[in-house]
Amino acid sequence: MFVSSPRRTHFVAVGATAISTVILLSLLPSDKVEANRQIHSIELPDIAQHTNEIANGHRTDSALSDENKISEITNSAANSGAETAGDQQWQPTTLVKGDNLTSIFRRLGLTDKDVYAVANAKHEASQLRRLKPGETIAVALNNEGSLAEVKYSRSRLEHYMYRRGNNGFNGEKVLYEPETVATFQQGRIQSSLFLDASRAGLSEAKIMEMANIFAWDVDFALDIRNGDQFSVLYEEKYLEGEKIGYGDILAASFTNQGKTYEAVRFKATDGSVSYYSPDGKPMRKAFLRAPLDFTRISSNFNMRRKHPIHKRIKAHRGVDYAAPRGTPVYAAGNGKVIAAGYSRPNGNYVFIKHGEKFITRYLHLTKRKVRRGQTVKQRQTIGTVGSTGYATGPHLHYEFLVNGVHRNPRTVKLPQATSIAANKKAEFIKQTGPVLARLKQLGSTQLALLSSKP
Ligand SMILES: [Zn+2]
Repeated sequence: MFVSSPRRTHFVAVGATAISTVILLSLLPSDKVEANRQIHSIELPDIAQHTNEIANGHRTDSALSDENKISEITNSAANSGAETAGDQQWQPTTLVKGDNLTSIFRRLGLTDKDVYAVANAKHEASQLRRLKPGETIAVALNNEGSLAEVKYSRSRLEHYMYRRGNNGFNGEKVLYEPETVATFQQGRIQSSLFLDASRAGLSEAKIMEMANIFAWDVDFALDIRNGDQFSVLYEEKYLEGEKIGYGDILAASFTNQGKTYEAVRFKATDGSVSYYSPDGKPMRKAFLRAPLDFTRISSNFNMRRKHPIHKRIKAHRGVDYAAPRGTPVYAAGNGKVIAAGYSRPNGNYVFIKHGEKFITRYLHLTKRKVRRGQTVKQRQTIGTVGSTGYATGPHLHYEFLVNGVHRNPRTVKLPQATSIAANKKAEFIKQTGPVLARLKQLGSTQLALLSSKP
């Protein structure tokens, strides 16, 4: 749907006044996740790009309020006095490869004279020289049957309007800001993080995002257990009552084998966004818990059992990750490759030194992707899972050494990252406090509901 807009180039911010948003609370029982949703209004000063109508009482559908919002925009635009096509018929067309204004206008039954007039519009004419397939253009005629308005839409949010005036066409840019709605989801793991989180309503991208936030504390490949729990507060973006995308995770908690980790988003004054524990320590740490993607591990729970490959080898001093051949293996931390080669027991291997104290080793790779002496970054692919050397099936054998001594990479105590600077602590608490409180409150509301269930 297009809406009419005022004459000047402007930025339609959807209400910047109020400090409220909506929580979609998914009331999921632990064993069965249902799309049973309730809406609660809350106050979150730090994510307050929303108007206030929604906050008044409980609504059953966030889309309702979004529709209100859009009609507001429409009204304000109409009231600004711009002459619009009003109830005239818009003729839209979707751009295909090779389209230019001439081909589009011909398709819509317009003349080359129209093309010339619009292409020479005052303001924003240059936008029409950057047309791309998939975008749309719509035209409207006046009562005399000649071209009155052209609407060029790059996306749901970015539009260009060209209107006939006394001296040719005039163009303007119209931007819409989607409404951001905070959404809460919670779930308990029964089969796999991926399956249970999708059942709880999280998109694939959001599951990965959540896993990546906790990837320094939780080994999602090996340590996930039945009964582990997660809760996530994240943003959804709406325009005209329709969900058009997702925003960031605002806060999340993950309980792994009885231990709960919490993370909250903090936006620094320079605009950069990172996740911190509630006491202000960065979630990002020097080493990943698992040097590969948990999604590639065939079964989280099977891995609890002893892996057959090394059971007869006396001194097995690493962790084995069974994963399909070709699965990317990441550098667990920033460092320098001190060895990359082949030996009969290890197959293709890569050793990385991290600072003075730490060394990580990766064995049985199909391919090595780095050379000796090379500097690597955390999460950089250094090779792929294979079964070279003494290995009966594709798996990654991973070792972690501290001062030359083998340690369990999944439990070893790692250097603590520095907390948020003292002079930023006040801002940190102000920004993250309400979000964390909300996460906690929604989580416990749900728990109470669960435990009161017959
Ligand atoms: Zn091994």
